Amino acid sequence: MNAPDTAALAASALPRIDAHRLWDSLMALAALGATPKGGVCRLALSDLDREARDLFVRWAREAGCTVRIDAIGNVFARRAGTEPGLPAVATGSHIDTQPTGGKFDGNYGVLAGLEVLRTLADHGVRTRAPLELCVWTNEEGSRFVPVMMGSGVYAGAFSLQHALDAADRDGVRVRDALAAIGYAGPEPAALADGAPRFGAFFEAHIEQGPVLEDAGDVIGVVTGALGQRWYDVVVTGLEAHAGPTPMDLRRDALQAALPLMQAVDRIARAEAPHARGTVGWAQVFPNSRNTIPGRVSFTVDFRHTDEAGLARMDGALREAIAQAQSDGRVAVSLTPVVHFPPAPFDPALVARVRAAAQRHGLPHRDIVSGAGHDAVYVARTAPAAMIFVPCKDGISHNEIEDARPEHLAAGCQVLLEAMLETAGRAA
Ligand SMILES: [Zn+2]
Repeated sequence: MNAPDTAALAASALPRIDAHRLWDSLMALAALGATPKGGVCRLALSDLDREARDLFVRWAREAGCTVRIDAIGNVFARRAGTEPGLPAVATGSHIDTQPTGGKFDGNYGVLAGLEVLRTLADHGVRTRAPLELCVWTNEEGSRFVPVMMGSGVYAGAFSLQHALDAADRDGVRVRDALAAIGYAGPEPAALADGAPRFGAFFEAHIEQGPVLEDAGDVIGVVTGALGQRWYDVVVTGLEAHAGPTPMDLRRDALQAALPLMQAVDRIARAEAPHARGTVGWAQVFPNSRNTIPGRVSFTVDFRHTDEAGLARMDGALREAIAQAQSDGRVAVSLTPVVHFPPAPFDPALVARVRAAAQRHGLPHRDIVSGAGHDAVYVARTAPAAMIFVPCKDGISHNEIEDARPEHLAAGCQVLLEAMLETAGRAA
């Protein structure tokens, strides 16, 4: 068989994933670092992360995979194909969590991939291309920055040395934490250093937003990820006594900052529905009841489906800042801190996700990822796509994060079919 063909993939002829086994595995992994409120606290490269990795490696070997570990601690479980020369069709996500994280963020993508490999093994299905299941190191970025560390090193977004030198708040460096848990592997971590390039990469993930649940959809066909531009803004005026200083002689940094913060919201709304604009952190100095604020620092998080839109938002913000400074009472500094270009996913892979949802009559919609994911970095190196499933009330990065077993199973089945079609079923 040459080009795998969709017609051959009649739903009835396809192996079915085991929804109970998927759920049980999710719950078993969630027990490592379980919090009293039903969430998970399993920070990257902690002892709990080691336990979770060890469990994953055991499961992967039991499913017939070989396991390799690279220099940033990414774990790859490989299921051989009948044509070893073909690049692997890969899937995966992360198993580190936020300090008050949930059971599904990341873990679902890893265990959905595992369930795919287990199902293919159960049914004796062989693929032409090898399959790989990835556990990417430190996706969350809550203990070590940069976020999406393992996939970022792989894709060359930053260097291995930069990642290994990153330290947590206690001064523990990534290189030492990796060694301490036994996951400083021998394999090259970066594509540029010889890590293998995938033929395709799929990531299943809970949506982490409210769109699917609101629409009653089960599968989000993710067509790409929003680009992001983040900034630090500092407005400097002059602190003075709230009583003796008349209104027209003030250099009040907070009153100058407020219209800027509102501009962030307005700028994003002007690009609706393609944009987001958020001021998520602000600090007033000296933050005293009877002192006119002399300095206000705040963050700006802009997201947009396309680069030109991000550029328009950047321009509009700079215009608002120029306006705020025009009377000379305050000075405003704008420091760009992050720029992720928008990441469109591969149309052919996206179409396979959509076709699998249609094959099973699953309500689905095209959706753009507003959050960063490992797949966004991997997409810089190989064709990639994502599958979203709903999470309760759209809540994630929270201990009450929840998802329905039947939705998780549906997403896993879609993943299996998209991977099987891409890897090609061996005769
Ligand atoms: Zn995640």
